Amino acid sequence: MQFIDLAAQQHRIRSIVEKRIQTVLNHGKYINGPEIPELEEKLSEFVGVPHAMGCSSGTDALLLALMALDIGPGDAVFTTPFTFIATAEVISLAGAMPVFVDIDPLTFNIDPAKLDQAVNALKSHKGDIHPLPVQAKVPDTRFEITPKAVIAVDLFGLPADYDRIMQVAEKHGLVVIEDAAQSLGAEYHGKKACSFGDIACASFFPAKPLGCYGDGGMCFTHNTELAARLKSLRNHGAGGHKYDNVRIGINGRLDAIQAAVLLCKFDIFPEEIGLRQEVAHRYSQMLSDTTLTAPKIPEGMMSVWAQYAILPKHGAARDFFQKALKDKDIPTAIYYPKPLHLQTAFKNLGYQPGDFPVSEDYSSRIFSIPMHPYLTHQDQELIVKTLSLT
Ligand SMILES: *Cc1c(COP(=O)(O)O)cnc(C)c1O
Repeated sequence: MQFIDLAAQQHRIRSIVEKRIQTVLNHGKYINGPEIPELEEKLSEFVGVPHAMGCSSGTDALLLALMALDIGPGDAVFTTPFTFIATAEVISLAGAMPVFVDIDPLTFNIDPAKLDQAVNALKSHKGDIHPLPVQAKVPDTRFEITPKAVIAVDLFGLPADYDRIMQVAEKHGLVVIEDAAQSLGAEYHGKKACSFGDIACASFFPAKPLGCYGDGGMCFTHNTELAARLKSLRNHGAGGHKYDNVRIGINGRLDAIQAAVLLCKFDIFPEEIGLRQEVAHRYSQMLSDTTLTAPKIPEGMMSVWAQYAILPKHGAARDFFQKALKDKDIPTAIYYPKPLHLQTAFKNLGYQPGDFPVSEDYSSRIFSIPMHPYLTHQDQELIVKTLSLT
C-alpha cells in the first residue's frame, strides 16, 4: 500500500504528461516558457485571485512574500510551531524574528485569541502574558522589535480561521501571509484557499495535493503592486530589462517542464478533490467506532486533505498503532514529531518545553495514515480494522 499513490495518478495521465513535456523539449524555452503564464492564468482563475506567480518552491514562495512585503531585521513575524520547518525558516532567513503562537486543538491551526495575546506580549515585553523569544522579553532602545506580520498555515489542507485572524491583524496593523503549501483546492466560507491575506503561498512539491515532478511553488495576491514586486524579486530583482536590477532578489523561477506537468495534473485536480472528500468521509465514519480522534472540519470549511492525521489517547499508543500497521505493510508518517520552538535551529530564541502545550502534546501523539484520491475502500477497511484490533 502507498502512503500517497502518485503512480496511480500518473497511470491516468502518463501519455498527456509525456506529450506536454515533449512540447517543452521542442520549443526549448526551459526558462520562462509559455507553460508558466498558462499555468498562472489557470490557477489565478481557479483560486479567484487576480495575480498568480509561479516560483521555484513553496519555501521560496514564502521567502519572496516576506521580501515583497519588506520584512526583515527588527520585525517580528508570528506563526505556529506545529508546521513544517520552512514556514519559520524563511522568517529567520529574511532576518526577522519568528514568534510562535500555539494551535487551536480542533483545527491544528494558529489560535487567533493566542495570536492577539502574543502581539500584546511582544509590544509590552511581557513574557508572562504569552511566551516570547528571549530577545523580545526586555526592551532594547537600539533594536526595537516591531510586530509586523503573521504567517497562518493551513495545516493538513484545512484553511486557518481567516475571519478571526484578519480581525487581530487589522487591530495590530499586521500584514498576513497564507502558507497554503498544503491547502490549494480547500475552501473557507465560500472562498478558496490561496486567496487570503496580502500574499498566499502554495507548494507543488510532489506529495502536495497538486504536485509536480520536482520542486515548484506559487504566490497569489490581490495587490497589483505586490505582484510586480514579486515578479521582479523572483528574477534577481529585475527592472525594465534583463540586465537592469532595481532590488536584491533571488533566482526563484518555476521551470517550464514542471509547469507542463502541473497543467496536466490540474485537469484532473477538481475531480481528485472530490475523491479526497469521499476517502476522508469514509475514514471519519469508520474511525468513529475506535479510540482514535479523527479530524473534524468546522462548519463552512472544506479541507483538501493533504494529510489524514489522527490522535491516539497517549504517545505510547502511537508506537503500537504504527507497528501494527507496518506489520501489514501499511505506511504511516508523523507530521510533526518535534514542534519548531524546540528545534535546535531555533535554540537562539530561548523557548522552553511547556511554552506551547497543545503543539507539544500533539507532536507526541499524532500520526498520519495513507491519504490520496485513489485509496480503495478495501484498503481503508484494512487500515481501520488493524487500528481497532490494536
Ligand atoms: C511543503 C511545505 C512548505 C514548503 O514547500 P516546498 O515546496 O517543499 O518548499 C512550506 N510550508 C508548509 C506548511 C509545507 O507543508
